[in-house]
Amino acid sequence: MSSIDLDRWEVVIGLEVHAELATRTKLFSAATAEFGGEPNTHIDPLTLGLPGSLPVLNSHAVELAIRVGLALNCTVQRSVFARKNYFYPDQPKNYQISQYDLPINADGFLELPSGKIVGVERAHLEEDTGKSTHIGGGGRIHDAQYSLVDLNRAGVPLLEIVGRPDLRNAEDARAYVSELRAVLVAVGASDGKMEEGSLRVDCNVSVRERGAAEFGTRCEIKNINSLRSLGRAIDYEAARQVDLIDSGERVVQQTRHWNEDDGRTHTLRSKEGADDYRYFPDPDLIELDPDPEWVERIRAELPLLPAERRHRLAERVGGSTEAVALIVDRGLDVLCLAAIDAGADAGRVVTHAEHNLSDERARDLDPAAFASLVRMETDGALTATQAKTVLAELVERGGDPASIAAAKGFEAMDTSELEGIVDGLISAHPDEWQRFCDGDVKVTGFFVGQVMKATGGKADGKAVTALLNSRTA
Ligand code: ADP
Ligand code: MG
Repeated sequence: MSSIDLDRWEVVIGLEVHAELATRTKLFSAATAEFGGEPNTHIDPLTLGLPGSLPVLNSHAVELAIRVGLALNCTVQRSVFARKNYFYPDQPKNYQISQYDLPINADGFLELPSGKIVGVERAHLEEDTGKSTHIGGGGRIHDAQYSLVDLNRAGVPLLEIVGRPDLRNAEDARAYVSELRAVLVAVGASDGKMEEGSLRVDCNVSVRERGAAEFGTRCEIKNINSLRSLGRAIDYEAARQVDLIDSGERVVQQTRHWNEDDGRTHTLRSKEGADDYRYFPDPDLIELDPDPEWVERIRAELPLLPAERRHRLAERVGGSTEAVALIVDRGLDVLCLAAIDAGADAGRVVTHAEHNLSDERARDLDPAAFASLVRMETDGALTATQAKTVLAELVERGGDPASIAAAKGFEAMDTSELEGIVDGLISAHPDEWQRFCDGDVKVTGFFVGQVMKATGGKADGKAVTALLNSRTA
């Protein structure tokens, strides 16, 4: 399918993210909420929907929901559990307990690393369903021979986070999900594992002509289980809708299924309306009205959130938005700030954290050692390349940067020695030198590379460039 003309069309995206809350037990019973296990072993009478079993609300799930709501700048409010009625074999009660018109968290927002603000309509509590596995016929229900039902997951607490249709492209949609995941993990509400289904994304996509006042008709895409699929599904679906409209047809509101193998979305069912579910307040549960003091206590205990950490770092280093976001994402901001406090140059600290500290163990670096390495570099005792080598060793084994540098024989090169090498290269490569003098900056790399070869990487690239420039005069 062709890619769409973005001068003419605008893509509108709103995401519904389901996060499994990291509780020990289920939302309304004491059965374990642990992932996996032999099928149908994490169950109890309530999970099975046996007559006479009654739900008892898990207060830890409520606390986790409130943590997320506060982190998403929502209002935490009085809420009501409702029955959402529908039949499916992986849900023996024949209804799902969810929150409908009164969700626990309402009207918040999430700030993306780019600074973009995405509205959050609500984040409500509900229970997860079990899992059906369709056997035969390619694993789809339509032509399966039989199906297996595992109720281990049924009743595990979920938080459904409904985003407003504020996203305009696949990249922002991916950024929204990863930011949301970072927030969920930061507040300890979820492990955020998309591959284990702890985080599941339903994606609503519509298109409209630029300047149109109304949104177009949306389709909801299910079964997206990675950020990569999310981006691909959005691009495919937007193009499909534009093609429909261009050929004089209309987009029909539908639930569609993303197929990773053929890279397309497929019709799953026409969209149910709220009326179909016959929502009504669950008579087995009372309304949930969290004590404001409790909410304030939870707020006070929240950790610093990713957006706040980005702002804090950016204020100190002034690096690019991308660098700051990457450093926070890698959990290196505390290290960087401590190294800067210990006197290291902020620019060099950011450069190292961005380019040379992708190793997970970098988080355990000793800030003082990191700072003294950076100081050796800015004092001219180490070249950038040497500093990188010493840093890798520091991450690997720890220790003292000065001793590591000495052990590797990294001593600052004598200027006259470097001059001799550069002059020798200039006379050995007259053609390249002429091009350099004519202003062809690309040959700089050639000369620097030759010097590095001759010195075993000991020379400072910047010093070499400066020398080359001084020789053109
Ligand atoms: P439903 O209950 O049918 O899922 P909601 O009103 O809760 O409907 O909206 C679900 C999601 O659809 C929200 O995340 C919202 O941002 C998104 N959405 C609503 N309208 C549009 C639209 N025209 N285009 C894209 N997304 C939309
Ligand atoms: Mg919905």
